Amino acid sequence: MNLQGKTALVTGSTSGIGLGIALKLAEAGANLVLNGFGEVDAALAAVKAKGVKVGHHPADVGKPEEIAALIAYAEERFGGVDILVNNAGIQHVAPVEEFPVERWDAIIAINLSSVFHATRLALPGMRERGWGRIVNIASVHGLVGSVQKAAYVAAKHGVVGLTKVVALETATTGITCNAICPGWVLTPLVQQQIDARAAADGDPERARHELLAEKQPSLEFVTPEQLGALTLFLCSDAAEQVRGAAWNMDGGWTAQ
Ligand code: NAD
Repeated sequence: MNLQGKTALVTGSTSGIGLGIALKLAEAGANLVLNGFGEVDAALAAVKAKGVKVGHHPADVGKPEEIAALIAYAEERFGGVDILVNNAGIQHVAPVEEFPVERWDAIIAINLSSVFHATRLALPGMRERGWGRIVNIASVHGLVGSVQKAAYVAAKHGVVGLTKVVALETATTGITCNAICPGWVLTPLVQQQIDARAAADGDPERARHELLAEKQPSLEFVTPEQLGALTLFLCSDAAEQVRGAAWNMDGGWTAQ
């Protein structure tokens, strides 16, 4: 596939799934606007090595005004956002009656409201150019629940709903909007949950196996590269009539 001349903005692309998706889009020739914290220079270098134009904006996507600055940066430096991948996300695990209110607010802001703000701000440019792809990285937790993840599950179900509305509102245009629903992917976000289990029972390998065995029948992690390949397909002409989908890639998790 050839995405030369297109610009992709991937939120939360300094790590994990977002970086995997950014690299796949860059391999197909898209210029990249990266976003996120932490290993910024390493992410910039990895994307640059694909031979495309790349920039980074440090917006905290929990803050609407910073998302506006991120979209403005992409428009000024790159001429607009053709492909928007709403990927940034955080997790917190606690029973609902003990769930810290501040963590609830942060997860709703970063995992859900950011998708609304980035979408509403990127859409006018996509409509002007008559083409666009919006890919929201939801989760199996946009389709089913799990204990101790009240805010995350609520936010991801919200992302799946928002995806359908945006798909309907753009249905007669060259813009599509879809969600991807990954199962377990071994990224820092999940490593934290494995570490917490290992701290309780002392064996990291058993913690890793049990985490998979509880939910993911394949007993294998999904990889960022596989999620990048699915994103690339959703950006293709072949996917033009895939609209409003919540596409699981989950080793069988939601087939149960
Ligand atoms: P990760 O922790 O490896 O990466 C998260 C990225 O988001 C990083 O680049 C981080 O800097 C960035 N980020 C965090 N808060 C931010 C903020 N306020 N503003 C801007 N950037 C911010 O996580 P991951 O596992 O790669 O998760 C990426 C997405 O995939 C999330 O939306 C997550 O919910 C979803 N997801 C992950 C899994 C999994 O098993 N890892 C499964 C399903 C869905």
